Amino acid sequence: MLALTRSTSLASRSRYRWHGFRVSRTTVRFPQFAFIELGTHSFQTTAKQHKTMPSKNKKNSVPNEKHLSLPAHAEATTPIIDTHTHLLTTFSSYKSKYRAGKYDNVWDFVRGLYEGRNVKAIVDVWCDAPVQPAWKELADSALTAEDRTNKWGGVEYWFVMGVHPHEASHYTDAVEQTILEAMAHPRCVGWGEIGLDYHYDNSPRELQQQVFARQLQQAVKLGKPLTIHTREAEEDTERIMKQEVPVDHKIHIHCFTDSPEFAQRLLNHFPNLHIGITGVISYSTNTNTSSIVRKMVATSKPRILLETDAPFMIPSNIYASLSELKGRLPLCHTAMIPWVADFTAGVASEGWDTAKIMQQANENAKLVYGIS
Ligand SMILES: [Zn+2]
Ligand SMILES: [Zn+2]
Repeated sequence: MLALTRSTSLASRSRYRWHGFRVSRTTVRFPQFAFIELGTHSFQTTAKQHKTMPSKNKKNSVPNEKHLSLPAHAEATTPIIDTHTHLLTTFSSYKSKYRAGKYDNVWDFVRGLYEGRNVKAIVDVWCDAPVQPAWKELADSALTAEDRTNKWGGVEYWFVMGVHPHEASHYTDAVEQTILEAMAHPRCVGWGEIGLDYHYDNSPRELQQQVFARQLQQAVKLGKPLTIHTREAEEDTERIMKQEVPVDHKIHIHCFTDSPEFAQRLLNHFPNLHIGITGVISYSTNTNTSSIVRKMVATSKPRILLETDAPFMIPSNIYASLSELKGRLPLCHTAMIPWVADFTAGVASEGWDTAKIMQQANENAKLVYGIS
């Protein structure tokens, strides 16, 4: 197990890779990882909401790590499926905040924080270029039922892999070969996250489009479900997807924050397309996600998936359940899904409650990724 932390530190950087709300690129060192890039997201939260990363002058603001172990949620009987989480980055974030923390590796972290929280399955996301070599060690450690019980505390570990639009300029034949190898792994359930991000334009737009189209073609050839990241690129995302992807393909538009009209056009065109909801739905500066939820719940089977996109996107409503906590949590994790569902149920309103949202999302996770 130690091998993972060591090989990670030597062979690659662990980068925060979430829904484009990147990141100031402050680099810190700590023993287990050579370089961890930290940052804050630009999706402004209100004063009531919560900055997830400490600033330099608030070095002591990280609360005791016991607060990461969440209290039992009222909806604890419904299994949690997190359809989009960056597990290694979440663990890296944890180690950067809690250098002497009690969890020494990813598996300890998962067992410590998820066991007893009814976490049934996670879809881990690998989207760097070059691909972080640790992917194989994690995936292989979930191959047998025995390992999933012993190492993962019974959590079903699945993963997707692709090259994020931020990294498009690093997409090479060699990177694609690694992804193709990963696609054949028994724990791989999709290709992603891939797409377009015009908010940051970390790679030139034309290149983003080429790399997006190329990955779509490969995934379609293999029949792999797609995890799509799109931000402020509605027209091009829609055009390229309609060009490259058969209408009945299984698709997850993750951490949706663009216009509800765009979501609706995609939902209309692709009958197996689903919309991923994260804690960002609870941020007052974002009304798009709530709008599309309201539209979807008017249908008999709303095509919602629940996800954390951890380590960020802490649902702001969670603090009402953490009365002893002074300050804010430094990272998000999978056991927070019921709070995302709570908020979503509140938005959906009549006829919906947290359990029903989670059950519907779990059915949808089965449909898109074949996991349960
Ligand atoms: Zn992500
Ligand atoms: Zn994303």
